[in-house]
Amino acid sequence: MSEKKLTVSGFASCSAYQQAKNALLGMKAIYPKEFDITVNECKTFLSSHRFLVVIFLIVATRDEYMAWLPSFRETIDAPNHKTSPIVWFEGGKYLGGRDDTIAWVKNLLTRTEEPPSTPPNVDPWNPSHGFDYDLVVIGGGSGGLACAKEAVKNGAKVACLDYVKPSPHGSKWGLGGTCVNVGCIPKKLMHMGAQLGEHAKVAKSYGWTGFENGKNNWDELRDHIQDHIKGLNFGYRVQLREQGVTYLNKLGKFKGPNTLECIDSKGKVQVITAARFVIATGGRPTPINIPGGEYAITSDDLFSLDKPPGKTCVVGAGYVALECGGFIAGLGLGEVVILVRSRPLRTFDQDTVKYVLDYMKQEGGIRIEEGILPKSIEKLSNGRYLVHYGDKSEEFDTVLAAIGRTPDLSKLGIENLSSPLTIHKSSGKIIATNEQTSIPNIYALGDVLHDAPELTPSAILAGKLLARRLFGNSTDTISYRNIATAVFTPLELGTVGFSEEDAINEYGKDAIECFISEFKPLEWSISDVHHDVNSFVKIVVLKESNNGIKNKVIGLHIAAPNAGEVIQGYGLAMNKGLTYEVSSLYQDCL
Ligand code: FAD
Ligand code: NAP
Repeated sequence: MSEKKLTVSGFASCSAYQQAKNALLGMKAIYPKEFDITVNECKTFLSSHRFLVVIFLIVATRDEYMAWLPSFRETIDAPNHKTSPIVWFEGGKYLGGRDDTIAWVKNLLTRTEEPPSTPPNVDPWNPSHGFDYDLVVIGGGSGGLACAKEAVKNGAKVACLDYVKPSPHGSKWGLGGTCVNVGCIPKKLMHMGAQLGEHAKVAKSYGWTGFENGKNNWDELRDHIQDHIKGLNFGYRVQLREQGVTYLNKLGKFKGPNTLECIDSKGKVQVITAARFVIATGGRPTPINIPGGEYAITSDDLFSLDKPPGKTCVVGAGYVALECGGFIAGLGLGEVVILVRSRPLRTFDQDTVKYVLDYMKQEGGIRIEEGILPKSIEKLSNGRYLVHYGDKSEEFDTVLAAIGRTPDLSKLGIENLSSPLTIHKSSGKIIATNEQTSIPNIYALGDVLHDAPELTPSAILAGKLLARRLFGNSTDTISYRNIATAVFTPLELGTVGFSEEDAINEYGKDAIECFISEFKPLEWSISDVHHDVNSFVKIVVLKESNNGIKNKVIGLHIAAPNAGEVIQGYGLAMNKGLTYEVSSLYQDCL
């Protein structure tokens, strides 16, 4: 059954039939490659339509239509349908009459401005290929695991390799990739730990006693988190086994477009072959290239440090820098200084970022040095590090480099492929169309893919959809637009869509309107701890979009407690075509 192939049947003089037919032909005109519309209508002359096959059928007049309908409607399980038109999908699923058809079309048009999915290019797939596997996924992180499991569900024979190259400081971990081991999971848990400290500060106002002098114990926090992660590593291994994916804890290295060397930690080599490959090798923190840069740890090391970080110099001002700086200060593990090259969270809505930074500086006691690059790091005899930056030098216990991530293509042997894999010059990531690379049987997804966000939910969805397209006859592709994201800073930041600045660059100042609200969250109201900083929301509205939609919400930015959770619902609403009701009634509510 295809939800893109429909038939509309009715009699020509019926206005409801004409409306439904025109709505469907409109979809065909907008998305000519996507929709197939068949019109069952009797006419007295032959005609052809640019976009459709016209079938000349049984129905000439109202009476003839009404005579034909009762026997036909049973075949599509619509025994109560009594009017013209009647519309159904290929395979016989009933859609409805005029109103249902128009509602269906409206829904498709408002759901997204992207065209419905385009079928991927076809790779040279032959079910009797004779290779060891239908699919080998290289990388058992967020995207790779999702893809491998979904491919097996769709009948493929699959192997998944995952191998962690130790960080320069020797940190390594188990199956599950960045998010589980050295990313989202430990970060969110440490953020939650820091938030508990914040709550403890106001607990007295809520009638609690005994929380005032609490102190965080790093060893306990780290061990509990690491134990949880080991449980997740084990769970993933069990899932792969139970679901029939062959797991190889080995480093994958291409020997050709269908051949992979799999090398274990002792250097033992196994060669496997596959009809298709997915590269889901993610990224690793970019090392800092200054004298003494080797002394800086990265997020790969932070969550398993054998002692609390202490006074920390964080280099960078993106997600990782602000989140890690935020929880180190929030847990009371040490003073934090953040060195910012240009501006913090440079690509985010800057009014919203200001609230996050004000909170970090005023309530979190974090020092933020803007427009500063570190020049060098020296190791001192007392075990501390002397960081030279700007015209200052300062001692720290830890230097954390959080200056972005580099796609992990090292040791993958892409130079051994018969034709070159196209790599983007500046990002160093793989260029692909619908995740298909320049080599037709090799796919790429997640952090290693150019122009895809470096986020876990999008890597998971991309992996599942790709597996369904490769082995399950689906044509659905992922859209990387309007993906909601959160920065888990002490005051959280949730964002989706255009910043005000980007919206103006895209549409022009006159086309945009922003609605903002500054407020004190209820949870702060009975305490004097957060008295200087407020929370903030900005809605960026396009006054009229190309297709005539008024006040379309194209950006939403929140700096507030729990913004990370709140933004998810708005992300969904925006992708469904959220508009802003510009009335005093709603403005009062905002
Ligand atoms: P990864 O999860 O990185 O998995 C790739 C795997 O491939 C790794 O295990 C790697 O060791 C393995 N590998 C590499 N080369 C080979 C090879 N040749 N052979 C075999 N195996 C190989 N995202 C969010 O959405 N929310 C968050 O809150 C969030 N927080 C983050 C916090 C931090 C500190 C960091 C660093 C990242 C965070 N992210 C977050 C981003 C998220 O972790 C990544 O976007 C996601 O993990 C990418 O998934 P992936 O499948 O592309 O790659
Ligand atoms: P990032 O967000 O791209 O930020 C990199 C930061 O480092 C920027 O502030 C950049 O400054 C700075 N920088 C780059 N090169 C530098 C240099 N040589 N010296 C000093 N500063 C330098 O990278 P990230 O924080 O490592 O995060 C990587 C990705 O992981 C993110 O894009 C995100 O998708 C994902 N992630 C997501 C979450 C989440 O969802 N909550 C959390 C963590 C990570 P400029 O602005 O001047 O370039």
